[in-house]
Amino acid sequence: MSDAEQPTDDHVPGDDEFEPIQVFPEAEEMDLRPGADNCYKCSTCDTNCPVAEVDDEFPGPKFQGPEQWRLKRQDDHDIDDSVMKCSNCMRCDSACPSEVPLSQMHNTARAEYVEENMSKFSREYWRNRMLSNYRQLAPLAATFPRTANFVMGLSVTKWMGEKVLGIAGDRDFPEFAKTTFREWWAKRGGNATSRERAQEARAERGAEVQNEDKRIAYFHGCYSNYNTTEVGKALVRVFEHFGYEVMIPEQACSGTPMFANGMLDDARRAAETNVRELSAAIEDGADIIASCTSCSMSLRQEYPELFDFDGTEDVAENTWEAVEYLRVHEDLEGELEGTQVDDTNFAYHAPCHSRNQGLDGQTMEVMSAIDGVEAEDVGDSCSGISGTYGWKEENYETSMKIGEEMFDHMEDAEATTGLTECPTCSMQMEHGTGYEIQHTLQVLEAALVGTELEEA
Ligand code: SF4
Ligand code: SF4
Repeated sequence: MSDAEQPTDDHVPGDDEFEPIQVFPEAEEMDLRPGADNCYKCSTCDTNCPVAEVDDEFPGPKFQGPEQWRLKRQDDHDIDDSVMKCSNCMRCDSACPSEVPLSQMHNTARAEYVEENMSKFSREYWRNRMLSNYRQLAPLAATFPRTANFVMGLSVTKWMGEKVLGIAGDRDFPEFAKTTFREWWAKRGGNATSRERAQEARAERGAEVQNEDKRIAYFHGCYSNYNTTEVGKALVRVFEHFGYEVMIPEQACSGTPMFANGMLDDARRAAETNVRELSAAIEDGADIIASCTSCSMSLRQEYPELFDFDGTEDVAENTWEAVEYLRVHEDLEGELEGTQVDDTNFAYHAPCHSRNQGLDGQTMEVMSAIDGVEAEDVGDSCSGISGTYGWKEENYETSMKIGEEMFDHMEDAEATTGLTECPTCSMQMEHGTGYEIQHTLQVLEAALVGTELEEA
């Protein structure tokens, strides 16, 4: 060892202050998203992204997720506006072999983009705000459903919607039911809007099922309440057939359209209401059941990823999709044996959000238990509408291109009716093929209970 390398006696350890080298930035500056650094750039997510498949300008989930966050961490890059082109189908989540939380990263990035880079005076902002807050606008239309349906069906309304707001004029607005699901429920005697009122309502309802050992709280979401009320009614009748006491807690939108549009503050407010009300129902002995696969996805995955209200995890752990619940807790297929329905030929599309929950095969298995029913799975492609995505003028063509594979398979299936569990997939299936579309629960209702004839 040379002299130069010898330690000198001048340096007394402990005499001078220890100055650690800053290897990581300060904790508050760090991106602590779990799994953000697990990406090893295999591009599997990109090859599974339906938007990237048909839109060459969309950089894909790998860029939207890990790469964008790396850029941001390096020099506080603005979030790229292409994040608004992600449809939030969440297919990339299940495609990633490294469990990178892609959709969580997209949701956070979108919220940051809207907050910091999107003008609050722009048409895009107000259009997105309207689309994602359907729950706020629907009660007005539902008060005058005939007038609303007439006005929204006019071609001049669609033309104005496209020119003024940027809502795709080629789409048909969904019809509002003449009686909302909650009005129907109240007339039936179950006007349960909170835990206490639910208890009172149960006591009042002599004719309805009361069963403290088998109790569910139905999260009907916006669409089953204002539009396809027959889905909510089918759920009630099917669960009552199995002896369940049904509660209908107070609830807000699940937040799905808000996540997709970067309206995270709106989503947080809605989630806070839902977690509070659904936690009370769980305390009351109920499991939470959704008929829409995007609603169950939101309560199960997006809430715990993005929020930490008291009860969030509890709600996530106790939430089920309706058919999934019946298959786990009841002998659904056994009960269906020997039953029959009028409509027997179905073309089934599994929504992306049902795939994400591992539920994509269940409807086909359940249908095969009903005598004479022929159901054909129309493949694993995305329908292309993805909630509010396909309603935007600038996304309409892409949305229809994504849906082409499903439309072709539906036409080849030569069925009489389309079948799915997602309300917006249902709109796209009908729009692209002209098929009448039903929810799986409606077929179960027809097989197990029979369909009640009444005004929608
Ligand atoms: S699939 Fe996962 S690991 Fe592969 S590139 Fe995408 S995020 Fe990275
Ligand atoms: S959520 Fe869907 S559209 Fe968005 S990046 Fe992932 S796969 Fe693509």
